[in-house]
Amino acid sequence: MNDMPLVAMDGLIYNAPDSLLRMTVMDGQARVMMCRTTRMAQLAADTHLASDTAAAAMGRVLPAAAMLSSMIKEEKGSVTLTFAGEGAGGKITAVGRGDTLKITVDNPQIQLPLLEDGRQDVPGFIGTQGRLTVIKDFGTGEPYVGTSELVSGGVAEDLTKYFAVSEQTPSLLALGCLNQEGTVLSSGGILIQAMPGCTDETLDNLEMRIPFFSNISREIYDRSMEELARAWFKDMDLQILSSGPLHFACDCSREKMQAALIATGEQELRDMIDSGKDVEMVCWFCRTRRHFTPEDVRQLLKDASAKGDEHAPD
Ligand SMILES: [Zn+2]
Repeated sequence: MNDMPLVAMDGLIYNAPDSLLRMTVMDGQARVMMCRTTRMAQLAADTHLASDTAAAAMGRVLPAAAMLSSMIKEEKGSVTLTFAGEGAGGKITAVGRGDTLKITVDNPQIQLPLLEDGRQDVPGFIGTQGRLTVIKDFGTGEPYVGTSELVSGGVAEDLTKYFAVSEQTPSLLALGCLNQEGTVLSSGGILIQAMPGCTDETLDNLEMRIPFFSNISREIYDRSMEELARAWFKDMDLQILSSGPLHFACDCSREKMQAALIATGEQELRDMIDSGKDVEMVCWFCRTRRHFTPEDVRQLLKDASAKGDEHAPD
């Protein structure tokens, strides 16, 4: 619905905006989500000056985060996905808040040799051993934290295991990113989850369709998601519930960095002031650098202790 017709613009053959489609099949027996995250995968690659390997990894994690985020209905809710593997890229963390995503990688500039089939070595970048952690914060009370062991570092397999182990939800998931020489051609994903009451027949029917979407980035490269879904789930009572845009943006601010500075403690702040040098803080999601002069830090310390006094018990 959000997809525009084929047009060649800014280097992309299929100039569709990032968006997410929510659907059901067989009268709600399974839910289907599909998303296109090509633009944000490019923005992430540009933000982190990423190698093609890192861009491919982010181009798989971003659609996963977008689909998980869309399942959280609370307005102040968020989801955080962390792939902590022993791969060359280090830790990857993506955060989804509603339709807005951000992502960071420990070592975004590491390029690994291509795999034999010509694809980027995402498993080598993330690591085949380690943990996947999913934090769902509903904006009220304790967040839900689920973890599972990495299976392959290929992202989709790791998340499928997480859904099975941690959420007991049978899921079919495909994620993909097509990119080369700094350009992301296509990034996206599809997630199908059985709902309570889903029959074995429906599950079998869905599994039979895996070959249609297993190469998801190539499928959505030049075609509308809705058109694809209608073809793939033909005769399965496909209902499109919603279609909406996805955004890539960071929610950091000077105020949040100030709070982080204050949290380092009084002694640290005094040392910063005594050093006479500016303090530079970097947001690891958008790479924005913010500077605090010794005078700024002195003021922060003053404000923080004034606040502390107000709340101090008699
Ligand atoms: Zn930021």
